[in-house]
Amino acid sequence: MKLFGVLGDPVSHSLSPAMHNAAFRALGMDCEYHAFRVGPESLHDAIYGAHALGFGGLNLTIPLKEKALEIVKPAELAKQIGAVNTVDFKKGIVGYNTDGLGAKMALEGGGVKIRGKNVLLLGAGGAARAIAFQLASDGASITIANRTPGRAIALAKDVGRVGKARASGFGDLKNLVQNSDILINSTAVGMSPKISETIVTSDMMHSSLVVFDIVYNPINTMLLSEAKKAGAKTIDGVMMLVYQGAEAFKIWTGKTPPVDVMEKAVRERLE
Ligand code: NAP
Repeated sequence: MKLFGVLGDPVSHSLSPAMHNAAFRALGMDCEYHAFRVGPESLHDAIYGAHALGFGGLNLTIPLKEKALEIVKPAELAKQIGAVNTVDFKKGIVGYNTDGLGAKMALEGGGVKIRGKNVLLLGAGGAARAIAFQLASDGASITIANRTPGRAIALAKDVGRVGKARASGFGDLKNLVQNSDILINSTAVGMSPKISETIVTSDMMHSSLVVFDIVYNPINTMLLSEAKKAGAKTIDGVMMLVYQGAEAFKIWTGKTPPVDVMEKAVRERLE
């Protein structure tokens, strides 16, 4: 039996155990995935302990993704993003970031092309960093708008090394939305329990906009409801979660997991 796990604090709400265990069962693999409550002060011991115990791999969640950079050998993309969400033990202790790839695959899986598109990205936190690096590398022009403009400016400067990125505050949002092909919410706004909140409303949108909310709890956020009112195409946060997990699964096992099985496990728990 091979063990896998997600480390974080809080972590009891994590959907990763259900998602990965469903994939292991579907592929008939003798593996189990559990959630472990670990704070930043114990992260070093926890990662080295898992390595010593022969774990197959780890995921990291809040508040450990940035701290892990000091502990693992980061792959180039994780180093650029400044955060690690996946640890693999096959060649030492290597850290990856699969969040951006998860977002890209969620968009492409929804039939959305990325190259040449104007993307308005709300947020400049950990998830926004991963998405901005990925989509800029894939040829999108990214406008990063954040409540704290200084963080958007810093992120746009970093992302400018791999592609097109500029920063903005929330002052001119309507204009920014009107000039965008894709709007992505990567802030925590709209997340349970504050489910009636949204930064952008339907009157600011246009009908050829794609609106992607990476918040997945609830699945149908207020932003997505507003987007439907405006006749815009919507993509919820579940597939990003599933695809980032599927990429981690591939890194650990070399196998392609059944994403439909993983998606079903996640949606069942959220619904
Ligand atoms: P984070 O690093 O803490 O960043 C939070 C971001 O939200 C910051 O940009 C922050 O702006 C902004 N924000 C928070 N409250 C706000 C408010 N009231 N008004 C405006 N902006 C606000 O968090 P994260 O790890 O990036 O995660 C962000 C969200 O994405 C969470 O809901 C998380 O569950 C979700 N997520 C989903 C997936 C997925 O696979 N679907 C993956 C990762 C994360 P300031 O800089 O101004 O504080």
